Amino acid sequence: MRKLAIYGKGGIGKSTTTSNLSAALSMLGLKVMQIGCDPKADSTKNLMGGNFIPTVLEVMNKKGDNITLEDIVFEGFNGVLCVEAGGPTPGVGCAGRGIIAAFEKLAELNAFEVYQPDIVIYDVLGDVVCGGFSMPIRNGYADEVYIVTSGEMMSMYAASNISTAVNQFKNRGYASLKGLILNAKNVENEYELVQKLATEINSTIYHYIPRDKVVQLSENDGKTVIEKESSCEMANVYLELAKKIIA
Ligand code: ADP
Ligand code: SF4
Ligand code: MG
Repeated sequence: MRKLAIYGKGGIGKSTTTSNLSAALSMLGLKVMQIGCDPKADSTKNLMGGNFIPTVLEVMNKKGDNITLEDIVFEGFNGVLCVEAGGPTPGVGCAGRGIIAAFEKLAELNAFEVYQPDIVIYDVLGDVVCGGFSMPIRNGYADEVYIVTSGEMMSMYAASNISTAVNQFKNRGYASLKGLILNAKNVENEYELVQKLATEINSTIYHYIPRDKVVQLSENDGKTVIEKESSCEMANVYLELAKKIIA
């Protein structure tokens, strides 16, 4: 089982990239589980026909110990398994426990043994690389980290912080950084800016995703590009990313 984490600043396109990647991997015959790790809890929305699924933390609060996998794992487009971990309550926080509690619950219920995914992808908010949100890079949850960034200052700043966090744990045999996914915002000299960042953090641009309105149009229908426009150029960009990752 491969375990990937996709990090990046809020709003940079993590969930769009992750859900299109999951959909593409499923088209290539893989059993995929996507786990959203963002208080927005909308990671899997475009795999679920535009619907929000309940988060693990919500269900835990409501049902206590009576949770079953059916309460928290939902089958979306082409059999992609969808989970939303949830996040800290606004103004209350979680003292770093939030996402861990959700992960522990999945482990306790043997989610991976029951569904046997070929690949698990964590879609993680990376503005704050606090104890809670750095969890997927620790304790063996994810082995490979990819960072989504554009050429905008704030998203490159977040990318740099995330790479520092990954390096922090590298020597303990935890996750390693596989590269940057440039999700274009079409800022001036974007490719060069991100290339410079990649060099600075000892990494590379793993994949380039152009900006395309088909993403938004698909989203309006509650779909990934892979589902809505499977033969368009943009679908091919996501398929190429999926093939690279498999290879
Ligand atoms: P995040 O998960 O990082 O918070 P989202 O994936 O929700 O960000 O993306 C934020 C917005 O950007 C969405 O409305 C999405 O449609 C748009 N978007 C993301 N990637 C692209 C792209 N390559 N081209 C056009 N729009 C995009
Ligand atoms: Fe939890 Fe991190 Fe938010 Fe603090 S910053 S409440 S540890 S998720
Ligand atoms: Mg998201």
